[in-house]
Amino acid sequence: MYSLTDLSKRDLEVLFDHIQAAIALVDRDGNLISWNSAFDIGKRQFPNANNLKDLFLQKDADALHLKLREGEKEHWAGEFAITETDAASLCDFWLVPTVHDHFIFIAERIESEADAEKMVEKLRKQVDLYRVESEFSKKLARNKQIEMEAVLAQAEEVAHVDPLTFLPNRRTIIKDLQSEVMRAERYRSLFSISVVDIDNFKSINDNYGHPVGDEILRQVAIQLRDGIRHPDVVGRYGGEEFIILLPNSDKNAAAEQAARLCRSIRDEVMHSREYSLQVTISIGIAQFRLGEDSWHSLLKRADNAMFEAKSGGRDRWVVGD
Ligand code: GH3
Ligand code: MG
Ligand code: MG
Repeated sequence: MYSLTDLSKRDLEVLFDHIQAAIALVDRDGNLISWNSAFDIGKRQFPNANNLKDLFLQKDADALHLKLREGEKEHWAGEFAITETDAASLCDFWLVPTVHDHFIFIAERIESEADAEKMVEKLRKQVDLYRVESEFSKKLARNKQIEMEAVLAQAEEVAHVDPLTFLPNRRTIIKDLQSEVMRAERYRSLFSISVVDIDNFKSINDNYGHPVGDEILRQVAIQLRDGIRHPDVVGRYGGEEFIILLPNSDKNAAAEQAARLCRSIRDEVMHSREYSLQVTISIGIAQFRLGEDSWHSLLKRADNAMFEAKSGGRDRWVVGD
């Protein structure tokens, strides 16, 4: 069985270089024969040192001299110059006798109590920091996800809803109109639409200011939404114009609704700031003509009917032909 003492100098060198601690092969007088790279890093600071004793303080060097003389295996702790740090540091030392009165000297840095405490503290901080960071990043990721969902929901809403009245916007109500045309064509069903326009709305803006105009617009929108029945839908088509879709309804049903809406708007006293206002609406109605109408031509006919209502004196409804 091999023991360390059986190894050749060459073997020892190979072994030394694979050990992290500073290791040197010395003779009985402490002369340096061979050393590993960890030892070499420290030795470079003392280029003239060729004896192990040169690397110790005088009193420690004397103690080392005695140990070498005794030729026993030794283990002690002390200060040593050769370490990876430039300052002398506390080390564990081993002196192991080997063949031909040679010794293997090992110096392994040990952390001082203070160092160890600092190390633990540093580690704890790192863990805390990591934990904080990871929780923060988790939270951040969660928040980001919520934020993203909110943004997406918002984008979805913005894409479909008119921000002033919260009714379906122009794009949405036109899309709904197109779908209704397709449905009517496929199922040979009937449906009607109404175009609603606020009367003399420009004068409200002019006399009371744009914000009051906005408020009136909102209140008219609410009245319209509340005045229709499922499955009818109302959307904001333009400035103060709205479209109502009336699925499965002929022009008479639409006229009935229009009469009701004209009346309810006319009777409603609307409040905005210090003003109490009453407005009226004009409505144009058109019933979808299967095989003739497109969504566009239907809308045009309803629009024409609405203009007829205007020229007829406003606050009324007209069924287009
Ligand atoms: P008519 O009875 O012929 O419909 O007269 P009108 O004044 O309502 O018609 P006109 O089309 O000349 O005016 C519509 C006005 O609506 C013009 C525009 O300034 C106003 N308007 C359009 N969109 C908005 C809006 O979002 N807010 C406000 N406050 N006013 C708007
Ligand atoms: Mg108008
Ligand atoms: Mg108008």
